[in-house]
Amino acid sequence: MSTSLGIDIGGTNIKAAVVHEDGRVAAFETSAWSGGAVIDALETVERLAAEVGSSSGLSFDICGCGCAGLVDHEAGVVHRSPNLPQWHDVRLAEELAGRLGVPVLLENDANAAAYGEYAAGAARGATNAVMVTIGTGIGGGIVLGGSIYRGSHGFAAEIGHSVIDLTGGVQCGCGSTGCVEPLVNAASLVVQTKQRMDEGAESALAELAGPLTARAVGEAAAAGDQLARSVTADVGRTLGVLLSNIVAYLDPDVIVIGGGVAAAGSSLMDTARGEFAARTSIYQGMATRIVMAELGRKAGVVGAALLAASARP
Ligand SMILES: [Zn+2]
Repeated sequence: MSTSLGIDIGGTNIKAAVVHEDGRVAAFETSAWSGGAVIDALETVERLAAEVGSSSGLSFDICGCGCAGLVDHEAGVVHRSPNLPQWHDVRLAEELAGRLGVPVLLENDANAAAYGEYAAGAARGATNAVMVTIGTGIGGGIVLGGSIYRGSHGFAAEIGHSVIDLTGGVQCGCGSTGCVEPLVNAASLVVQTKQRMDEGAESALAELAGPLTARAVGEAAAAGDQLARSVTADVGRTLGVLLSNIVAYLDPDVIVIGGGVAAAGSSLMDTARGEFAARTSIYQGMATRIVMAELGRKAGVVGAALLAASARP
């Protein structure tokens, strides 16, 4: 059976894996990096590729690389990336192919992760799927009929910039206001909890010994803390609205939720599902399934490798 190399370049780490055609990971390595110069990323990828090749005992004849930022899939170029500020119009596919000695297919990292869940994870068997990754921001990926939908300019699936608050709203990194991204992310649970405690709301979290985290807020909510429950419910409701908007646009079989939001526990997702069900009742039982991601931090490398495998001549 053929194997492919999957690479995932983000703002804080670089991952590599040798992946079988059915999505099984034969070897996986990750390396912390600072999101700095292109040459450092190229050298790290070359080192990780050698490591996973050696530890799996397998060779690969093609490579897929997911990279954070605005990526031209056809040209193999990373135009720019908020997570990689030094990168401008980097011919990444060509550079990597020269170092690895195999053809390299470039993809946006969120698209690669969505394809991984679609081909070998939580959306396996679906025809149309959307992935929403909620970490420090919101990443999105859309797979329709087996193909990634990138849009006409490469901006498709920027679902974090769906505007859902017209009352002024929070300033978003994209320059607009009222986007969903600043409202639904792992840090927003912490920020909103602190803000309400500063305003005088009482909570057992005020006695917390360590730093306040999304996990701590989730655990307090599960234990019945009123403030934590209220904050978690607000974020969950907003997420439910976002999910119902996705269904209104795309009607996928499944929406996969990934990223650090899982650390906030089940109460946030329970609220999101409730809000989603209430807003999609018109579809009467035909509504999209909402599922949690299965591939975790390996979704990007698996998706990139399988995308490359599907493009194998
Ligand atoms: Zn925005």
